[in-house]
Amino acid sequence: MKPDLFSKFDPLIAEREALAATGVRDPFGIVMDEIKSPTVAIIRGKETILVGTYNYMGMTFDPDVIEAAKTALDEFGTGTNGSRVLNGTYKDHHDVEEALKEFYGTKHAMVFSTGYQANLGFVSAIAGRGDYIILDADSHASIYDGCAMGNAEVVRFRHNNVEDLDKRLGRIPAEAHKLVILEGVYSMVGDIAPLVEMVAVAKKHGAMIMSDEAHSMGFYGPNGRGVYEELGLEDDIDFVVGTFSKSVGTVGGFVVSNHPKFEVLRFVSRPYIFTASLPPSVVAAAAASIRKLRFAHNKRAHLWENTRAVHAGLREMGYTLGTETPQSAIIAVMLPDQQQAVVTWEALLNAGVYVNVARPPATPNGMFLLRCSLSAEHTPEQIKAILAAFKAAGQASGAIS
Ligand code: PMP
Repeated sequence: MKPDLFSKFDPLIAEREALAATGVRDPFGIVMDEIKSPTVAIIRGKETILVGTYNYMGMTFDPDVIEAAKTALDEFGTGTNGSRVLNGTYKDHHDVEEALKEFYGTKHAMVFSTGYQANLGFVSAIAGRGDYIILDADSHASIYDGCAMGNAEVVRFRHNNVEDLDKRLGRIPAEAHKLVILEGVYSMVGDIAPLVEMVAVAKKHGAMIMSDEAHSMGFYGPNGRGVYEELGLEDDIDFVVGTFSKSVGTVGGFVVSNHPKFEVLRFVSRPYIFTASLPPSVVAAAAASIRKLRFAHNKRAHLWENTRAVHAGLREMGYTLGTETPQSAIIAVMLPDQQQAVVTWEALLNAGVYVNVARPPATPNGMFLLRCSLSAEHTPEQIKAILAAFKAAGQASGAIS
């Protein structure tokens, strides 16, 4: 074929073709034919336990959440056909922002159409020409994309490295406005940030702080606000970013803050303005879910039980995991290469267990991962089945002895 704009993708096309030629199934092309519950799907006719969905609190089938969505669907229709700043703010968009303010105990909450857009829209708008963004090297793609979209100077520090953060902040002109971006839980290997130390360093250099708590909402902190709440940093974090696509169980993203000028962002954030708002059924579902999550103490406890059981079980089998101890509901099984990752993944799927495959460039240090995310709704029997499948799959692929 004559070279054209697609030529740059040839190495990726070749890699995908080579993988397909081995006869294994495509981990990036799975179709869920039926969803039976937050933890069970039918994939190609087979009942499969879902262990890679971020459905941490199992809210997708909560009867109150479904009822709220149905009522909004009946009363307000399927979509808003417009931007939040024109015709796209309905009563339920307002209400979900109220629910977020109650949940986080903040004065302001701004809802975007996805978590990706919340990071894109907040990061690109808040830091402009002459400002500095200082971010962890392992930050989520949406944070990097927000930096790329804005005009601030961007400085990276080594993942979770407090000294490197201090050093890099020290090189920035003292009078410049600075935003340090952290994540409560880093989603690739499921490790948490040393937020207490990081916050102290950021404050010392006069920086504002944003924490993306996408993967900690619902089960970290006395009210489920996140790692920052667990560590007593509520008065120190200026902006918390989150998503409805994980513990909340639907789709959407948000930023909450107490900053007195926060509301101006609605008029300067392009990913907030130049896109349609979420369907009313989605925001109504989110509001109902958030109001329940606050009091979901039993679910929280059960999620941690499940996480500890799977972490301990996999370690005992001899798997190398992303963290020494369970730090979040994400447990990353580290494998040396794509071949072993995909073969183990397929053996798990054949045994009726679905996990995520993660590979570079999404992963740090060129790692190939089988990523498990646990749910409060996994039963003790499912946990047993998950561990048994990992044992058999790992032995068959040679990942464990
Ligand atoms: N932030 C982090 C840390 C994430 O892991 C993700 C999604 N995996 C997002 C933001 C984006 O969330 P959403 O799925 O709502 O776009």
